Amino acid sequence: MIFLTFLLGLAVGSFINLLIDRLPKGEDIIFKRSHCDFCRKTLRIADLVPLISFLFLKGRCRYCRRPLSLKYPLFELLTAFLFVFVYLKYPLSASFESFVTLFYYFLAVSVLLVIFFIDLRHHIIPDGLTLILTLTTLFYQWLYLPQFFLSNILSGAGFMLLFLFLFLVTRGRGMGFGDVKLSFFIGMFAGFPKIIVVFYLAFLTGALLSLILVSMGKKKLKSTIAFGPFLVAAAFVGHFYGDSLIRFFSQFV
Ligand SMILES: [Zn+2]
Repeated sequence: MIFLTFLLGLAVGSFINLLIDRLPKGEDIIFKRSHCDFCRKTLRIADLVPLISFLFLKGRCRYCRRPLSLKYPLFELLTAFLFVFVYLKYPLSASFESFVTLFYYFLAVSVLLVIFFIDLRHHIIPDGLTLILTLTTLFYQWLYLPQFFLSNILSGAGFMLLFLFLFLVTRGRGMGFGDVKLSFFIGMFAGFPKIIVVFYLAFLTGALLSLILVSMGKKKLKSTIAFGPFLVAAAFVGHFYGDSLIRFFSQFV
């Protein structure tokens, strides 16, 4: 099962690559075939097998022999490892619930990956992606986590209000409105009290990296860094490790 999950992750990773490249440009995702970035030749089906094609072609285009971007196989591997991680957390059993749970987390992690990289590069979070995350999470938690449903909705609403406040106070310079829209899902996904961990992680890492970039002269203090990637990474860590982090830090207070 772990091997199958790994293969599934490679395939989904290859699809996520397409989404990240094409979604911000509004290009067709399903019907437009991929082509070489250099010679523009349309790639064969055999060249599109995740990871395997790259290894088989030794990382070069079949036609012009120029090196293919390493980001494609690396990204497929990253997705595959994340899928295996999710599978180990929510392994499949005979119940229908475990099937839905695994599917939900595969979907959530995939969409979060797309948001992470699109926001990093283009400074936008497509509304459709936020909507998918929010609706599936509402449905999944209503169905299988009824005992946490109300408290998670409150966590989402509280987190969103906080972000709305920060957005208004900084007049949109600290973060975009896309972050505000995403924050409801983040609050539900992490739940209380793990959402506090998410908040700290997102702001600490965001502020720290900004300081490092500014001091290295890579960014001016005024130029904005997308906040979404920090939020997404913090949501992931907070969801899976929030409880351990809270236990760890509560020793010191
Ligand atoms: Zn080529």
